[in-house]
Amino acid sequence: MEFRIYSKALYSTWILYRPERLLVDVGEGISTILGNSVFAIRDIFLTHGHVDHIAGLWGLVNTRNNAMGDRKKTLRIHYPSGNRKIEAFIDFIMQMNPSLRYEMEIFPLVLGQEVFLRQAGSFSRSMVPFGVKHTPSEISFGYHIMEERRKLRPKYSSLSQKELAELALREGRDTITDTYKKKLITISGDSYALPVEEMNESETVLHECTFLVTEDRRNQNHAALDEIIESVKMTRGIKRLILYHISSRYSSQVSKWKKRAEEALADKGIQVLLVHPERYFEL
Ligand SMILES: [Zn+2]
Ligand SMILES: [Zn+2]
Repeated sequence: MEFRIYSKALYSTWILYRPERLLVDVGEGISTILGNSVFAIRDIFLTHGHVDHIAGLWGLVNTRNNAMGDRKKTLRIHYPSGNRKIEAFIDFIMQMNPSLRYEMEIFPLVLGQEVFLRQAGSFSRSMVPFGVKHTPSEISFGYHIMEERRKLRPKYSSLSQKELAELALREGRDTITDTYKKKLITISGDSYALPVEEMNESETVLHECTFLVTEDRRNQNHAALDEIIESVKMTRGIKRLILYHISSRYSSQVSKWKKRAEEALADKGIQVLLVHPERYFEL
């Protein structure tokens, strides 16, 4: 399993990406649903300070302290630097839990700051925040999960596997390969429709889609399905689009809108998935 998600606009949103043991946002109810899996989380990345995205943090910090599990692992919490609401909430949590039995580290992040996640064989992954338009009163981030990969230098493309292996052994792997960075996953956080360039070449895009019907939107701070489709149509390289943060007013219409989005993006070959606001989502 890659993703476990719960997301209902206004109430609660959290996205667990299991391969990197990371969580983007911590809406309420998360500890109740994850149970002992809260011990498997290594990194938490917060997008902004609205209560539907952070209210579950206190419970999660507390559950890891008191439930049966491995307390040797450090929990790292990352958030947009200068976001006062998040800072006030973290201060409160620390005051309420003054003697935690595990290490908790807090990292304010600035735009573009790369957070190293993991090195595994031929690739390494990192998390990189980008700015989004959400609420004028606070700083809001989206996040990219980046993967650094290796590819064979073109001048060696005519060599056989055996010759390459010998060359790598003799000269080192860095001589025959170049590294490049690939956007693996893009998570919008609460935002307007993301600009095309932010989503370009990202294999999986998780985009908030509070409004399935554009006319239902009162304030200019969330995305609507039409706009997302228009943006995504102009992108290249996206394989999957997961729409989340859907308002519960559309609970009975989710499959209808999924079909429309699939039809609109059919010629791009993008798989479209919607996170139902009343259901727990796994992929
Ligand atoms: Zn929200
Ligand atoms: Zn919000």
